[in-house]
Amino acid sequence: MKAIRVHEFGAPEVLRLEEVADPQALGGQVLVRVRAAGVNPVDTYIRSGAHAVRPTLPYTPGLDAAGVVESVGEGVARVGVGERVYVAGSLTGTYAELAVCEEWQAHPLPENISFAQGAGVSTPYATAYRALFQRARGLPGETVLVHGASGGVGTAAVQLARAAGFVVIGTGGTDEGRKLVVEQGAHHVLDHHAPGYLEEVIALTGGRGADVILEMLANVNLDKDLNILAKGGRVVVVGSRGPVEINPRALMTRDAAVFGLSLFNASAAEWASINAVINTGLENGTLRPFVGREMPLADAPRAHESVLKPGAYGKIILVP
Ligand code: NAP
Repeated sequence: MKAIRVHEFGAPEVLRLEEVADPQALGGQVLVRVRAAGVNPVDTYIRSGAHAVRPTLPYTPGLDAAGVVESVGEGVARVGVGERVYVAGSLTGTYAELAVCEEWQAHPLPENISFAQGAGVSTPYATAYRALFQRARGLPGETVLVHGASGGVGTAAVQLARAAGFVVIGTGGTDEGRKLVVEQGAHHVLDHHAPGYLEEVIALTGGRGADVILEMLANVNLDKDLNILAKGGRVVVVGSRGPVEINPRALMTRDAAVFGLSLFNASAAEWASINAVINTGLENGTLRPFVGREMPLADAPRAHESVLKPGAYGKIILVP
């Protein structure tokens, strides 16, 4: 099969399309013919060697994919050969024509969701759900600011929050991105490059501030976020690309809190909740992954450059 292989950590050019042996599903495992693979910022951090997760070289990148079950190992009962599935992580990497995952990582993909959309499900929706409910313990009726709502996690968060009864404010950096945020269900949208835009959160909440902030770029925004929180407000640091100085007094005066989040820390029980919510949402149509761009698998280096550039627009997907 064809697969993207990384022989050394480094720049996007280390992603090379190669011919490798087909992987096999052992007991309790599922072999999936990949029809689309999701590109996430974390794939680029791992590829560069800067992430805590450092796979043994050479490796095939990719956590998310959708496709059709090719074969199953002994004891697998939840999915069968020929079924459409999306995968939440794999043992062999998803930037490939075939990928092996554990049985619990393969989930039915409803007919109304395309393979490209399915490849945009796992990391974005799992992160958004974990941020909103497992870390911030958000409640229906609260106001959530999705700070960076035009990308993969942001669009997922807007859909999840809207479906659960939150008042949703999202931000985007381009006109196209902000239009997308509204289409995903945000009640209000702001431009995170406009001077003073965060003061509008205070106005939009009648002076209270946001109950929950999902923060995609904490090194730029965290200190400012603390000043627009409601009493008892919670910020969840989903993304950060450097250090930041904050004034802790803003937390004291509000009984507020800042939470970290790593999807890699989710327990089996937490994944069970995450997948139950995602699978229900895909089925009933409240969750609709938005694919902004599809690229051939060989273009993985270009996809890694694009996913880190400003002007996010839903998901970038690789097609084998
Ligand atoms: P993405 O698709 O590239 O989206 C990035 C988002 O950040 C876009 O909405 C982008 O908007 C926005 N952004 C850019 N500059 C901003 C600013 N100054 N203020 C607020 N938002 C800004 O990436 P993603 O997949 O959604 O992931 C978002 C972040 O979360 C990444 O840093 C990723 O590494 C991280 N993440 C962490 C975990 C975890 O386990 N902790 C899991 C998944 C993702 P514009 O491009 O329109 O400016």
